[in-house]
Amino acid sequence: MNASRIGFIMFSLAALMAAGFSAWFSERVNANMLLVFAHFFFFIALALSARFGRLNPLYALLLAWIIGSLLTNSFVFADRVDPEAARLLRLAAWYLAPLNFAVFAWLEERSPLSASTLIRVLMVALELGVILFIAFGEWAPGAFDALAATPFESIGTFDGIPQIALIFIALAVIALIVKIFMERHKTLAIAMLFAFLDMIGALSFYPNRGVEAAFLLAAAVVVAAGFVHLSYRLAYYDELTGTLGRRALSEALSKLSGRYAIAMADIDHFKRFNDEHGHDAGDQALKMVASKLAQIRGGGKVYRYGGEEFAIIFNGKTKSEAAPYLEEARKATEESPFIKRSLRRPKAKLKNYRKVRGKSDGYTRIPVTISVGVADNENGFAQNNAIKLADKALYIAKEMGRNRVVIQGKWCSKSRS
Ligand code: GH3
Ligand code: MG
Ligand code: MG
Repeated sequence: MNASRIGFIMFSLAALMAAGFSAWFSERVNANMLLVFAHFFFFIALALSARFGRLNPLYALLLAWIIGSLLTNSFVFADRVDPEAARLLRLAAWYLAPLNFAVFAWLEERSPLSASTLIRVLMVALELGVILFIAFGEWAPGAFDALAATPFESIGTFDGIPQIALIFIALAVIALIVKIFMERHKTLAIAMLFAFLDMIGALSFYPNRGVEAAFLLAAAVVVAAGFVHLSYRLAYYDELTGTLGRRALSEALSKLSGRYAIAMADIDHFKRFNDEHGHDAGDQALKMVASKLAQIRGGGKVYRYGGEEFAIIFNGKTKSEAAPYLEEARKATEESPFIKRSLRRPKAKLKNYRKVRGKSDGYTRIPVTISVGVADNENGFAQNNAIKLADKALYIAKEMGRNRVVIQGKWCSKSRS
């Protein structure tokens, strides 16, 4: 988890807690005002889902929005829902909300024109029909007992939530948390988890409209913010390696002042690596090097400059001060070879690879090394000059045989031990 993700989790948690706190002063909460904001942000969140082609969050959120609107007497629904029908709808929502959030979190995104999208749209329409039927149709009194069933007599009910629904909710929370760990872009998965918790909050406080509105607002804001955060990550982070990208580097460079060192690191003979092991293995190796570099100490910040080149900025350090940390990273890279499963044992499980360290174990260990050049602005060079100088030092490192760190202006000092 990196800092910007933790920031988003804190934000989502704050929204959830703020909605929860509104319960303490609910008589002073202006429910209508909150609902206006909630609907506004639901609209934004749904529009962003559609724009980003994320249909699954869209379905889950749309259904949450409709249920929320019905239970808060919003829009055209105002005062048309019989209170008894609303109670039944809330009962049904205890089941529907966990189902929707869990199912739509786990379904794979498909093209809008595919058959599976059609099936999903029909499913959403069907559910919508059920919801509207409960709200406006003739409801059977038996439905109450069925939905509120308490199969585990001894436990009793928790806060009016049906026992079976409690299990649903627990399973949905687990499904949503696991999804966060599976996703590459975790932000939306985090947003959906919190939107679900907000939805549960809203249902819990029914029929307190003010608190419901606060929770619904929190749900919509969190998803909308999730998309904003996702855009930020897409703009500033490199897709393959997960490090900051070129755009972030340009901005960081323009903000630099005072003393700083810049290093350029480049993978050695990477073209050969690709030729021998394939482009996919090359991508994996590139990711591995990026993750080694990302662990650099001394306050170095790593950016993917392009291709198999990385720039590292040390704010407040000279090139000589930065060099030992770069040397450490170079060594760490050298010491963690790329491990490729050889074709002789195609079915061997990769998870065992840590155990097998010998040579003839079915895994080929391919050394991957980097060369580094580092320069600073000690002589009053502009940022781009520092990069150029670091690039020159890198070139010298390559000339001298690669797998080493060269400090600009001190090119004869081999730092390789
Ligand atoms: P040197 O030691 O002099 O740096 O040799 P090199 O082969 O690494 O240098 P060169 O710049 O000629 O080749 C870089 C290669 O890196 C070319 C390209 O195939 C590969 N490469 C660049 N970006 C990627 C990428 O995203 N994925 C993969 N798999 N390969 C990449
Ligand atoms: Mg290279
Ligand atoms: Mg290169």
